[in-house]
Amino acid sequence: GEAGAPMRLEDLPIRDDLRGRTPYGAPQIDVPVRLNTNENPYGPSASLVADLAEAVRGVTSELNRYPDRDALELRRELAGYLGHGLGVEQVWAANGSNEVLQQILQAFGGHGRSAMGFEPSYSMHPIITTGASTEWISASREEDFGIDPGKAVAAIEEHRPDVVFLTSPNNPTGTALDPALIARIVEAAPGVVVVDEAYFEFARTGTPSALTLLPDNPRLIVTRTMSKAFAMAGTRVGYLAAHPAVVEALLLVRLPYHLSTLTQTAALTALAHRAELLSAVDTLRAERDSVVQWLRGRGLTVADSDANFVLFGLFEDRHAVWRGLLDRGVLIREVGPPGWLRVSIGTTEEMAAFRAALEEIL
Ligand code: PMP
Repeated sequence: GEAGAPMRLEDLPIRDDLRGRTPYGAPQIDVPVRLNTNENPYGPSASLVADLAEAVRGVTSELNRYPDRDALELRRELAGYLGHGLGVEQVWAANGSNEVLQQILQAFGGHGRSAMGFEPSYSMHPIITTGASTEWISASREEDFGIDPGKAVAAIEEHRPDVVFLTSPNNPTGTALDPALIARIVEAAPGVVVVDEAYFEFARTGTPSALTLLPDNPRLIVTRTMSKAFAMAGTRVGYLAAHPAVVEALLLVRLPYHLSTLTQTAALTALAHRAELLSAVDTLRAERDSVVQWLRGRGLTVADSDANFVLFGLFEDRHAVWRGLLDRGVLIREVGPPGWLRVSIGTTEEMAAFRAALEEIL
């Protein structure tokens, strides 16, 4: 038989629209200072570790049973955290906001449909879109990484996308969007508009959330994650707020019992520690603002950031700078338009190591 015969990906009978594609691939390299995937650098405190262990221990005797399929307690707590008068029926959760986005595409995209995003933006939006057999339409951000309302409305009217992605604060640029712009786009869009607020908690004070627009806009979906501000990237919990009918639509495509008992338990425990977790966010915002200043002081160009990362440049050979930092034990991300690099905000010590390494290279 053919057992053991060499088989290449291109020899497999995979979908034609997946041929020639490359998977998401932020390098996972083991170096002393990892500032490349916008993780929160602060691990759980001793008291959170103790509570997590206790909570997980408490549910282990039920692990023969499936979890709460609708994750009601978790969704109720997330609704309470979001505020804005949201109820449990307006909140949905899944394994990371990536899975939330995938479920949105499964329900609102699909064969013969399209999704539009304003790039540069989060690289998973087109990957999730095409993975859901949906056409990706790329519109552009402006030179300052904002979105021009007139051009955006024109692009939407031309292409009539079924799904529009708006990332605010945007990855990799850090740019937050004005809710008035979002409202205009929702009005123009024929389908659903997803505002990806993965980094919302890091926004500079006064930046309003798109959640404020939900009451008047039943086709608006706001996604969030526990991976960043809640420092729970390893737990995999993302969530959204939308009209209850949107949540009903997602129930049609979600896998039953998609959020494990362990995941729901860990997320609930982290939510109970939110005061402590969110106080670390303040530290990260201050660290961000100081690295922005430092980079500008070095004569570099830096995009204003409302996130836990900073896009800076412009380098004639950005790969050489990235490589030079890696050689000094500091891993950042080679992402964004040509000439730019992105550094995630780490601890004070990690940022000092980043600055020292960059100083040597410049
Ligand atoms: N949205 C944006 C804009 C992101 O940058 C990320 C993670 N890098 C995500 C969503 C997904 O995060 P998660 O699946 O961990 O919630």
